[in-house]
Order: sequence, then C-alpha cells, then structure tokens
Amino acid sequence: MNRYRIAVLPGDGIGQEIIPQAVKVLKKVGEKYDLEFNFTEAPVGGAAIDIAGVPLPEDTMKLCQESEAILLGAIGGPKWDQLPTHIRPEAAALLPLRKRLGLYANIRPVALYPELVAASTLKEEVIAGTDMVVIRELTGGLYFGEKRREKTETGELALDTLIYTTEEIERIVRLAFETAKGRRNKVTSVDKANVLESGRLWRETVMKIAPDYPEVELDHMYVDNCAMQLVRSPKQFDVIVTENTFGDILTDQASMISGSIGMLASASIGGKVGLYEPSHGSAPDIAGQNKANPLATILSGAMMLEYSFHRLEAAQEIKEAVAKVLKKGYRTADLAEAGKKILGTEEMGNLVADEIR
Ligand code: NAD
Repeated sequence: MNRYRIAVLPGDGIGQEIIPQAVKVLKKVGEKYDLEFNFTEAPVGGAAIDIAGVPLPEDTMKLCQESEAILLGAIGGPKWDQLPTHIRPEAAALLPLRKRLGLYANIRPVALYPELVAASTLKEEVIAGTDMVVIRELTGGLYFGEKRREKTETGELALDTLIYTTEEIERIVRLAFETAKGRRNKVTSVDKANVLESGRLWRETVMKIAPDYPEVELDHMYVDNCAMQLVRSPKQFDVIVTENTFGDILTDQASMISGSIGMLASASIGGKVGLYEPSHGSAPDIAGQNKANPLATILSGAMMLEYSFHRLEAAQEIKEAVAKVLKKGYRTADLAEAGKKILGTEEMGNLVADEIR
C-alpha cells in the first residue's frame, strides 16, 4: 500500500511557517517514490484555544488516532503563558497527546552536517564527526507525576512528583540497546542515581537488562557530568538513553553541536501512530518573520518515512536534499556564517524540494 494518512498540526508561532515546508518536501518525495500522502490539518495548542477554547480539541485527537502518522510544528507562546496549567498549551496539549497515543520514546539524532561545522558555537575539532542519538523517555517522570500547590502560613508550596516504574524504564532502555546494535554498539545511560531514588531504580534496571545485549558496551553517567561531556567531547557518545526531563534539557544543549536547534529533528514512537516534530519550540521571537529554519521539521518528515512508513530510500532522499542545499552555501539566519547566502523559511523549503527530482 502506497497511501498514507498524515495528521498535520502546525500549532503556534513558527509552527505555522515550518510545517508547510515539510509538507511541500514530503509531497515532492511522494511524487518521486509513488507515495500518496493524504494530509489533514487540525488546530492544536494556542491556535486551538483561540478557535475551540481548549488546546487539544477532541476532533484533533480523533484525527491523530485515525491517521498513520502525525506531523507537528510547535506549541505555546506568550499569548497563552498566563493561563492555568490545566489549559496551558504545552501542559494540556503536548503532554496528553504523547500520553494518550502511548508515545513513550522520543528519538533525536544529533549529527553534524560537515558543511555546518563552522556554524556551531563549538570548536570544529571538538564537534567534527559527532554522530549520536538521544533516546528520551517521554511519558513518565516529572512532567507527568502529581502536581499541586498549597497555601502555607508564609506563602505557597509547589510540588512536582518524579515517578518511574520498572516497566517504563525497561522498555525505553531496551529500545536504546536495540538502536545501538544497528549503530556503534554503545549505550550511555544518564541518570542522577547519586541523589534520586528514581535514578537508582533507573540504573538498577539498566544493569539488569544489559546482559541481554552482550555485544553492546554500556556506561552510566550522571546527568551533570553528561551536560559537561556533551560540549567537552561529544564524539564519545553513540546512543544516550535518559529520562524525560534530563532528555529535554540535554537535547537542547546537544542541538548546538549540529549548528542550531533548528536542525534537530525528532520521532516519538511507541504507540500505533508515530509523531514527528522538530525538537525546538514555537520561537515567538522570530515568529511571522520568515526567519525560522525549517530543516528540523523537514528532517522530521524524513524520520516519519523511516519509522512509520519504512520508506528508507525516500527518507534518505530528503536527507541528501538537505545536505545538497547546505553544500551550495544556503543558510537560514540561525546558521549564518560570513560568505553564505541567507534565506527565509519558505525559500529554504523550496530549495530542498527542488533538489528532489
Ligand atoms: P524555542 O525552542 O521556541 O526557542 C529558543 C531559541 O531558539 C529562540 O531564540 C528561537 O528563536 C530559536 N529557535 C528555535 N527554533 C528555531 C528555528 N527553527 N529556527 C531558528 N531559530 C530557532 O524555546 P523557548 O523560547 O524556550 O520557547 C518558546 C515557546 O515554545 C514556549 O511557549 C515553550 O513552552 C514552547 N515550546 C514548545 C515545544 C514543543 O512544541 N514541542 C518545545 C519547546 C518549547
């Protein structure tokens, strides 16, 4: 079957600008490889609050459940920041979307296109040749545990709970070992077992699973050390596996190895329907200005072809189209270097699409 239903959720801010670029590129690759994509758009996040009063309308949820994959832009922005947690776009749309679809694994490849080595703020000799995948647990931990606020005699107290079960840890860690088997056979498990009870369960569970993968080298790293090692010597990493909050923070940091957060694609998998989105947010500071880098979203489209539709050749075609455009010296403003041609969001999307023929 060559026909695929894709739910398209542009969301807020630059989501509205980058998603059309990814759709354009997917259509182009679809023509070449005889894949028919049926795109249906729906509101999510602040855009959905404005239309329907809630950030994740049931119609949007239903569309996602009935599709074969979801392409998401980004959610949130200053307009909705003051809303209470139960209706805030990020907490009340993004998290339930992931939870209800069972998307417990977020896969973020951090590789450096050689053409972008000078675009990074980090030194060339440190980052050249970096190629890692960060696997982040996505439906457990601090973001999903009990939350509460209470008045105290002197003010207020706020509580967030960090919960992990053996099963939640085991499934994500197994995915990391399996991923490493197809790469360089190395897993770095990142935790905070020296101070957190959940970190201790994390590490014990990893150690119990490791003997099932004798060919994979395993090391453990505390998250604070990992943050330092990522900028000190990122080439040491092959597959990093970590819990939700640590993965959120470490991947933003790791994005700078690839030149910009606008380069970091992601796939969220684990349920029936995969969700594909750039790792960045809605970038309100540049929204509506045709300045956003669409490549992370375009590359998320390539991950959709790979993980949801198993169309490896078509996925590779998109990655190569991106490489060709970068090689020709085209950049969005976030990747600007002296002597390069700076383009807007739409022009960058057009050039990538043009390379697919
Ligand atoms: P952000 O990722 O939106 O922006 C951080 C910085 O990176 C900004 O300077 C921005 O201009 C830049 N940037 C991000 N994406 C870029 C791109 N494609 N091209 C060029 N530059 C880019 O993070 P933030 O500012 O902390 O958050 C803004 C909003 O996005 C908040 O409401 C936040 O909650 C939300 N957010 C949503 C998601 C998501 O939808 N998955 C993820 C993170 C943040």
